[in-house]
Amino acid sequence: MSILAIHNLSKTYQSGNRKLTVLENVNFEIQAGEMIAIVGPSGSGKTTLLGLCAGLDSGSTGSVVLNGKALENLNEDQRAAVRNQDVGFIFQNFQLLPTLTALENVMVPLELKKRKDARQKALELLEKVGLKDRATHYPTQLSGGEQQRVSIARAFANEPKILFADEPTGNLDTETGEMIEKLIFDLNKEKGTTLVLVTHDLDLAAKTQRIIHIKGGKIQEDAHA
Ligand code: ADP
Repeated sequence: MSILAIHNLSKTYQSGNRKLTVLENVNFEIQAGEMIAIVGPSGSGKTTLLGLCAGLDSGSTGSVVLNGKALENLNEDQRAAVRNQDVGFIFQNFQLLPTLTALENVMVPLELKKRKDARQKALELLEKVGLKDRATHYPTQLSGGEQQRVSIARAFANEPKILFADEPTGNLDTETGEMIEKLIFDLNKEKGTTLVLVTHDLDLAAKTQRIIHIKGGKIQEDAHA
């Protein structure tokens, strides 16, 4: 079953009176449970593509069907509901809420789902990423690797069908990066979560089953291992 189907996706940014086309007629389909990497040079459109696939961004032409829902037909509230239901997202710069503790950050998606066991579940998730003892710390009191582990716990909280990760190890040292990699890949192995990873790290990309190469907003190659 296809969990993500992209058809003729294009995106143009308007800056002043200049138009910049950053994605042009992108097409691909991902099956549930696949683990894929999107690679390409800086500025090639990877982050823009991921944002559109995850329903974080709009203003494109073409179609994005995520878990059976055509995002272009939804309003912002409906897209937010799809994100909360089906999608996990991990960012290079973590994007934790600075005024909330580690535990409270992980509780956000659980509370959105009105789970009564939000605190308990969030503690279990922090334990899974090895950070139970940092539950009451604020993001500024955590190292980069710890912040990324909290953001992973948050992304796992709603048991997403598809996890998008944008350079998740980009700001981390090798050892911490490997720990993050393992957490993400284990989610795919253990729960069958589809994984879409944007990276410029070809060693990391090579650990997935399929690599989509993008350049100048166009797919150059879609290679299955
Ligand atoms: P990558 O992730 O591959 O580095 P991006 O998707 O971040 O590429 O960016 C693709 C291009 O779109 C770049 O030239 C970037 O400068 C431009 N871009 C990204 N976001 C915006 C924006 N909000 N407004 C205008 N141009 C943008």
